[in-house]
Amino acid sequence: MSVLSLHIEESTPVEAFLPHGLLAIILLGPPGVGKGTQAGRLSAAYNIPTISTGEILRAEMEAGTPLGLDIQETMTSGNLVSDNIVCEIVQNRIVKQDCAKGFILDGFPRTLAQGHILQEFLRANGIKLRVVISFDAEEDELVRRVLERAAKNPEKKRAEDTEEILRDRLAIFYRETAPLIDFYGQQHLLLKIDGMKTEDIITAEIKDFLDKVIPFK
Ligand code: AMP
Repeated sequence: MSVLSLHIEESTPVEAFLPHGLLAIILLGPPGVGKGTQAGRLSAAYNIPTISTGEILRAEMEAGTPLGLDIQETMTSGNLVSDNIVCEIVQNRIVKQDCAKGFILDGFPRTLAQGHILQEFLRANGIKLRVVISFDAEEDELVRRVLERAAKNPEKKRAEDTEEILRDRLAIFYRETAPLIDFYGQQHLLLKIDGMKTEDIITAEIKDFLDKVIPFK
């Protein structure tokens, strides 16, 4: 199947549940910057689901599906899974009923190619991106946070939670993902967030912004 082709059940007209004006949000930022925490809070505050490609891919690995087995090595070494795989996952997820009011993309897009494919998909489905929230923080702080999180929650520690792999993942972020900041900046969609601030201050800043642009209450 081509990456751009839509994967929608015949009986369900997309327009029926993907109206204009829904709250489509992208969270962009390096590992450890706090996207997941903010995604959870925004999800609860605006009653829209978070689509985390990392979580979906980890679930595939844990379930031992053919896809999970296929991506295992890439994931545990901290590299990016192919654009085709993640784009198809996201496209299939966005057309689900629970995304009708909006959705938060956490960890997607992660390459310019994914950004272009997403843009085309959203355009084809009449979905307007509301905002791309771009987080950043100092690299040493990001490493410290991820390692601390792994040490405090050994049950949640991942194979890729080592300083070496983390530094590689950060390099991949700045090389592959950071160009998306300009991509969305040129479209005037960016909200820049200083990830060194406290979680509560960050949530307040984002909500303040969203409450001004929100298309529904
Ligand atoms: P995350 O939980 O977002 O840090 O993602 C964990 C891992 O899943 C990443 O290191 C990648 O191997 C893979 N992954 C998640 N999202 C993407 C994406 N959009 N593109 C490529 N690989 C991804």
